[in-house]
Amino acid sequence: MATSKTVKVECQCGCALLEYSKSGKGRLIKCYLANIRSDQVGLIDLPIGARPLCPDCGKRLGDIRMVHGKPALKLNQGAIKKIRL
Ligand SMILES: [Zn+2]
Repeated sequence: MATSKTVKVECQCGCALLEYSKSGKGRLIKCYLANIRSDQVGLIDLPIGARPLCPDCGKRLGDIRMVHGKPALKLNQGAIKKIRL
């Protein structure tokens, strides 16, 4: 049975970006838009190909693309500061 937990994603500058319901183990590489719980950047409504920026420091957070047939934010690992489990 699949389990999921909520992780918190912040920019390196400390800006809170989103909370995500993550299933499975391992590093957070992508966030399916449908599983984002708290969207503080306005990611959920972005189109495929968009490249969202941190509202505070302007760093690119990643890009929106189709992953396994679902829209997801592929994270720019260099911009993500911490993930709290
Ligand atoms: Zn930032």
